[in-house]
Amino acid sequence: MTKKAVVMKGDGIGPEVVDSMLKVLKECNLQSELIHCEVGSEQWERNGFKEKSYIPDKTMEALDDADACFKGPTTTIPKPDAPKSVAVTLRQKFELYSNIRPIKTFKRLTPNRNLDFVCFREATEGLYSGIEVQISDDAAIAIRQITRKNCRRFILSGFQWAKKYNLKKMTGITKRNILKKTDGIFWEELENCQKEFPNMELEEIYIDNMSQQLVINPEQFNNSVLLSTNLFMDIISELASGIVGSIGLIYSANMGDSFAMFEAAHGSAPSIAGQNKANPTATILAGAWMAEYLGESDIKNAIFSATEQVINENKATTSDIGGSAGTTQMTDAIVVYAKQKLRR
Ligand code: ATP
Repeated sequence: MTKKAVVMKGDGIGPEVVDSMLKVLKECNLQSELIHCEVGSEQWERNGFKEKSYIPDKTMEALDDADACFKGPTTTIPKPDAPKSVAVTLRQKFELYSNIRPIKTFKRLTPNRNLDFVCFREATEGLYSGIEVQISDDAAIAIRQITRKNCRRFILSGFQWAKKYNLKKMTGITKRNILKKTDGIFWEELENCQKEFPNMELEEIYIDNMSQQLVINPEQFNNSVLLSTNLFMDIISELASGIVGSIGLIYSANMGDSFAMFEAAHGSAPSIAGQNKANPTATILAGAWMAEYLGESDIKNAIFSATEQVINENKATTSDIGGSAGTTQMTDAIVVYAKQKLRR
């Protein structure tokens, strides 16, 4: 049966980079059905700020009926009465507990760096649980909710990834000396899960030391899975992304048991929106990963290989990675190589 995915272009540079991704998938002859829906703060404003959510009901219905979705970047307005982030809402609703961000360098961009590891971020609780209490005009607290059940399903998915890709080391990032109860549960579950994967090495690094190690010697994490709770890994994976050369290169997936959401790691970058300047790589690679999830893995391999070739050749790359091409030219170059690779 044909698989179905909802595609939401989002805000800012979202429509440009998602159009790039759609073009590449179409030219590669994707067979899955794509359903286009609105999401984000721009459509919320256009509709008169009326809705309580950035996700219209019609979009939610389409998502309920799909196998996966692609979300372009969306702007989250940082005001207490504005709706909750689209990504956080969807991760919680569909229980997409693992946010996965592969970190891999490109030879041309970082000749002195050779990174290849993956960041796993628990994506349904922690400091993103959205539980904040205003105690008085001058004081508020945020709750860092950590549950054994949610830690376990998340950590197991990290171990399963390691097994699938033949990685030997798991690195758990905590601050267990201070957050004794919440990170205590997280670490205990790492140890419990390791018992089911006895060949896998497990180490613990405190978040402060981890930040330092990533700056001075990030190669030590090659071939390992880094795992942490929601906010710690949000920051650590962003730090790791910075080493790769541009946030425009970093793609991610949010996986649950029966649904997945694919997205670029970057935001809506309003300052460059509509100027044909945005790097489409992250969105194209996330789309290629979605193709694999939908059962079309030959497309994924062709697009990944084509994108690497375009970046390393540097004839048609965007300015954030040293080129002078626009979003559309870089996209077209990826299309040409991807089609060649599929024909072989
Ligand atoms: P959010 O909070 O939604 O993540 P943000 O403002 O923190 O958004 P981004 O929107 O990712 O972060 O932008 C951070 C910087 O990276 C900006 O200078 C932006 O122009 C740049 N940037 C983001 N995405 C791209 C891209 N695809 N290509 C080129 N530059 C980008």
